[in-house]
Amino acid sequence: MKNIVLFGPPGAGKGTQSEFLVEEFGFIHLSTGDIFRYNILNKTDLGVLAKKYMDEGRLVPDSLTIDMLKSEFVKYVDPLGFLFDGFPRTEAQATALDRFLAQEDLRITAMLGLEVPDEELMSRLLERGKVSGRPDDANSEVIKNRLAIYYKETAVVQRHYENQGKYIAVNGVGSVKQISSVLKAEIGQF
Ligand code: AMP
Repeated sequence: MKNIVLFGPPGAGKGTQSEFLVEEFGFIHLSTGDIFRYNILNKTDLGVLAKKYMDEGRLVPDSLTIDMLKSEFVKYVDPLGFLFDGFPRTEAQATALDRFLAQEDLRITAMLGLEVPDEELMSRLLERGKVSGRPDDANSEVIKNRLAIYYKETAVVQRHYENQGKYIAVNGVGSVKQISSVLKAEIGQF
């Protein structure tokens, strides 16, 4: 069973590439951002709590995020593999993920990191904001905040998997198709 973390800053293309990888490998796609947005749409307690952080481009607190992810994870019986997208985003989340996978005798196979320069991220997110309806894509201040938080809190998660010999860098600039085929080849080797 392959369990992949698709990693990278906001706007790196994780969501787009996830769709392709789910189709190709039959992964269960666990995107914490999507799950939070679903909860916001349905006005659940979790959605109400998460919204104020998300609108400002801040991370939702670890305890809430980890509990939510765990409760999604246990819903699947006999999965082909998981694709984690937007999680883990902090060292605490990475440690929690490793721990609860280990309880099921599972582990992360690899972390694939989409690497994209900041200027490109900023212009992609502003473009996406015109059509996505996401408040956190709509203004450059919130985007700057998301990128700053990524470098401050999330970039360390790369090191967490580098230390386990599991980090694979992937150039995230190019056509969607080019990048998909690199990801497919990387995952295919396991
Ligand atoms: P994304 O769709 O991955 O860009 O996530 C959108 C927003 O959801 C982020 O800016 C955070 O506010 C929140 N979020 C998503 N995943 C996480 C996570 N793993 N930890 C904390 N907050 C998260």
